[in-house]
Amino acid sequence: MNFELTEELQDIKRVARDFALKEIAPTVDQDDKAHRFRQDLVKKMGDLGFFGCVIPEEYGGNDMGFLAITLIAEEIARVHSSMRLPFNMNALGPARTILKFGSEELKRKYIPGLVSADLMGCFAITEPDAGSDVASMKTRAVLEGDHYVVNGSKMWISNAPVADVGLLYAVTDPGKGARGISAFVMDCKSPGVTVEPITEKLGTWGAPVGAMTFENFRIPKENLLGAEGDGFKICMSQLDDTRLGCAAGALGVAQACIDAVLQYANERQQFGQPIGKFQMVQDMIAQMIVETEAARLLVYRAAFLKDKGVPNTLETSMGKYASAEAANKCADFAMKIFGSYGYSEEYPVARYYRDAKSYQIVEGTSNIQKVIISNDALGYRKANR
Ligand SMILES: Cc1cc2nc3c(=O)[nH]c(=O)nc-3n(C[C@H](O)[C@H](O)[C@H](O)COP(=O)(O)OP(=O)(O)OC[C@H]3O[C@@H](n4cnc5c(N)ncnc54)[C@H](O)[C@@H]3O)c2cc1C
Repeated sequence: MNFELTEELQDIKRVARDFALKEIAPTVDQDDKAHRFRQDLVKKMGDLGFFGCVIPEEYGGNDMGFLAITLIAEEIARVHSSMRLPFNMNALGPARTILKFGSEELKRKYIPGLVSADLMGCFAITEPDAGSDVASMKTRAVLEGDHYVVNGSKMWISNAPVADVGLLYAVTDPGKGARGISAFVMDCKSPGVTVEPITEKLGTWGAPVGAMTFENFRIPKENLLGAEGDGFKICMSQLDDTRLGCAAGALGVAQACIDAVLQYANERQQFGQPIGKFQMVQDMIAQMIVETEAARLLVYRAAFLKDKGVPNTLETSMGKYASAEAANKCADFAMKIFGSYGYSEEYPVARYYRDAKSYQIVEGTSNIQKVIISNDALGYRKANR
């Protein structure tokens, strides 16, 4: 075993940290409060190769790997969780999934633009009545000549208001349950697609999200990923990769909470001494550090296994669960340590508290990760197949 990052990975982490501090940090509070999506900064991250880590050079990537993209996404989320989303919406979601399941034509048409961030991406799984139970989705795609005609709606789609291209999961054979779902690459700005932004949400205010409605939306049949009926399998494969991006983001938020409390606990004086001297505050800080570090090891192991190309659904679920819970515990404790200043908007802790919550929900709730982990342990359903 080797717990040390290679020099190359340390450099990548440093570049991401520097970028976040220099480009994102100066306006993070204003951007967040204005619910402003900084597409210009997403483009800069694309130019730096941040979205190319899990894509080969021939499609515009740099092949640095899953651990590299994990480190970068973590450092970006440590400064602004909303800015972490494009790692999933462009790179780990659409680009990676098209790479794995798309035709050569689809790869050449879409992946370079997603990697450079000239195109904004999204993926559309969730529906108003189909969340954790993905297989119960209703959006219908019917083959008519050389196009699929899509009708239905998707809900809570990150990037939907700005996306150019996305993955769409829809039912092609209603009698077959999960085996009747197919995956498509969609041009989001085509006729037949309507997007309604969801503006009132608890956190990640700098990350646009929306509801998508499809009315006789025509997708060329060449945009089918894999074969008809492969959609559920492709969706689970996509979630395996995008869960890693979430886990990296959760680590970033957890670390941001630790950074904030270490400074504050030394500055804030009560009863004639810094509050960091009180054992109850120390207890919270120790728990924050240990649980974040434990989660980090799980997340990095999942990334390491992905780089080795071995099955890792179980380890990815463990990392996603542990990091989401760590982020929420850290945000909760940071709020306690900051007292009323945590509750105010004067410090970033309120933002961390709001942003941490999404990690327990998106890409499979914490419950769903626990279902995967426990079913595997009990021998009911193997996670790594
Ligand atoms: C900010 C944000 C961004 C999002 N972005 C996207 C996106 O880009 N694309 C996309 O497709 N979706 C996206 N989503 C949707 C997200 O993936 C779903 O919200 C999530 O999968 C949970 O579905 P649900 O909200 O319908 O909850 P439900 O599935 O209705 O679950 C409600 C509760 O029941 C629990 N539960 C459900 N089933 C089980 C079970 N079998 N065992 C134990 N507990 C269970 C859940 O854990 C949860 O606590 C986003 C959501 C948010 C909030």
